[in-house]
Amino acid sequence: MRRTASALLCLALLLALAGCAPQAETSTVFAMDTVMTLTAYGDRACVDDAVSLIQELEARLSVTAADSDIARVNGSGGGDAAPETAALLKRALELCKLTGGALDVTVYPLVRAWGFTTGAYRVPEDAEIAELLTYVDHTAVKLDGQTVSLPAGAMLDLGAVAKGWTGDKIAALWREAGVKSGLINLGGNVQTVGGKPDGSDWVVGIRDPFSEGLLGAVSARDLAVITSGGYQRYFEQDGVRYCHIIDPKTGRPADSGLASVTVVGEEGVLCDGLSTALYVLGPEEAVRLWRENTGFDLVLVTDGGEVILTEGIEGRFTPMGAYTDKEIKVMRRG
Ligand code: ADP
Ligand code: MG
Repeated sequence: MRRTASALLCLALLLALAGCAPQAETSTVFAMDTVMTLTAYGDRACVDDAVSLIQELEARLSVTAADSDIARVNGSGGGDAAPETAALLKRALELCKLTGGALDVTVYPLVRAWGFTTGAYRVPEDAEIAELLTYVDHTAVKLDGQTVSLPAGAMLDLGAVAKGWTGDKIAALWREAGVKSGLINLGGNVQTVGGKPDGSDWVVGIRDPFSEGLLGAVSARDLAVITSGGYQRYFEQDGVRYCHIIDPKTGRPADSGLASVTVVGEEGVLCDGLSTALYVLGPEEAVRLWRENTGFDLVLVTDGGEVILTEGIEGRFTPMGAYTDKEIKVMRRG
């Protein structure tokens, strides 16, 4: 009798627990040229609101949609942008400065000339590259409140920071709504809200730039894990691979000795901007920039397959596959 009672109690407890366990609510959308998957535990409306937010931000920020804020500004050398667009441009200009112009929001004339916006890939002539480089200068962009002004010929592209910014906005929306557990995957840009529903950390995989597999995983809680790499978007001509990240100094696809850069930190837009910039700068400069700043850690993979971590991420990184036997270099501040 007593046994039956305790069995019933156990069953009741289990049912109660199952009732409490929040349901995974998910949505997959194609936006900003990539597949995005949103998962929030326990709140359907939050996922739907996030999808609306993504669509709204894409409509404002896209460099190709004719009626976006950015296209409008590019078409007329400036004008008023929506408050959100101006706020992102402000943060992006700070990151351009922080990275010494390795991130440059005015690199668009070159991105376009190489065909990365249209898919009509080509290798521009040296003279064309030299001419277009005269329009690349983030310090010439003026932002006064919401009013943007650009020098003649200059064009903005917020593609290197838009996804990180979007992730930050979704994370803020979810936290405000009380979501305790969420995963925002914007085409490989991962941002986490809280931990997993069972209380443990999220585990975010990092792609091996040389195979379809994973290089390792980072445990994350309320963190962004954002990767830029030459393997993501590129074209090949005469045996040469040209990637979609342009070095604003040369006007050519970055070739700095890095195969991928993963930036981990609390602020998605910072991680996104830095992942692009550090890919341009190369391993030594990337580590130098890390030493001089706070708020992020790095997982760098060189063209030679060497993995370099910064010390803040050492305890949260687990190598996988071929990387389990490799020596991993850890950079320290001291
Ligand atoms: P992805 O969007 O593929 O995740 P990134 O965040 O690295 O990759 O952003 C790359 C995009 O940013 C390019 O497609 C281009 O539009 C733009 N871009 C390329 N090079 C630069 C640069 N040096 N500075 C700013 N934006 C850049
Ligand atoms: Mg980026």
